[in-house]
Amino acid sequence: MAKAMNKTERRLRELVRRHGSPLFAISRTSLRAQYERFRKALPRVEPYYAVKANANPGVLKTLAAGGASFDVASIAEIDAVLAAGAAPAKIIFANTIKPAKAIAAAAGRGIDLLTFDSEYELDKIAERAPGARVIVRIKVPNVGSIVELSLKFGVDPADAIGLLIKAHKLGLRPAGVSFHVGSQCTRPENYIDALEMTSIIVRDARLKQVPLEIVDIGGGFPIRHLDGEEDPFDACASVIAREVDRLFDSSVRLIAEPGRFIVGPACTLVMRVIGKAIRENKHWYYLDDGVYGALSGLVFDHAKYQFKVTRNGHTQLSTLAGPTCDSLDIIARGEELPEMELGDMVYVQNIGAYSLASATAFNGIPFAKAVMVP
Ligand SMILES: *Cc1c(COP(=O)(O)O)cnc(C)c1O
Repeated sequence: MAKAMNKTERRLRELVRRHGSPLFAISRTSLRAQYERFRKALPRVEPYYAVKANANPGVLKTLAAGGASFDVASIAEIDAVLAAGAAPAKIIFANTIKPAKAIAAAAGRGIDLLTFDSEYELDKIAERAPGARVIVRIKVPNVGSIVELSLKFGVDPADAIGLLIKAHKLGLRPAGVSFHVGSQCTRPENYIDALEMTSIIVRDARLKQVPLEIVDIGGGFPIRHLDGEEDPFDACASVIAREVDRLFDSSVRLIAEPGRFIVGPACTLVMRVIGKAIRENKHWYYLDDGVYGALSGLVFDHAKYQFKVTRNGHTQLSTLAGPTCDSLDIIARGEELPEMELGDMVYVQNIGAYSLASATAFNGIPFAKAVMVP
């Protein structure tokens, strides 16, 4: 049974009529609102948007126009941010292991703030970006975060000062300490522990005459993915705000690298049913986007999405599948859904981060079309 569509659904239907599907709608209002929400909740912490979450030029332009800074991981991301109108001084190159060529390119474009987490990397930076400011990334607990980021990165906190001193000897400027508590971190204790470890390094560094100007608290700030879930951000932010005031005096500049939090809630993916089948007494609906496309977060981001439809009435256990010829491309099993027809819309909200960013063109299926909306 077709239900009376709500305002959001009528707007999505209109967009699909105009642009076709699959469609990836990015809301400027929501982007600005998330950025402001971050600023308000953490007034001492300057956000550098982590471009890898979603590098859409419209996203970058909207944030750059609002005065944002950026965390980049490659030459392509640097060039996208500069093209969006941000100044090089607003960029941190926060991929700790970089090709020598990328370091040289960053230096050539005026970027002088980089992170590292290995002695070998310092040698590379000293050679290709002499005199640059460097931030050491330490390994911190990622307990309970949905995406682990400490398996691959970070030095033992006990080694941080030695490396900063080495940086100084190589002619670089030791600038600070950074960490990442893991993405979608819903355990504020991770931030507390990491900030505590960082403050010890900052204090020791001062004693050893290596004053540090920056503490970079990374990303990880969580969002709500499903309706009815409690929004986990405020609890995290209030703990962080309290701890940074307790641990760092005003000589320390605090920055962060939020990705998911800024862009996640700003985007909606709209798909349509392109095929139907009954298999083992269950309805299967084949959609025009899937795991190889904008729903790639199901694999890479371990994401859980809420699939919404524009029908109501009697529901049955159903399967949603993507359009490619691979069995991995099953989107959701055991969804309670009303019976749908070809052409029906299925949409997912809060899907702005780590979605289209990791989509592939597998099977020649086109990417969802990204459009900026008010
Ligand atoms: C991925 C990443 C981020 C962004 O993390 P979110 O959890 O999306 O906020 C920030 N900094 C670094 C170094 C990253 O690799």
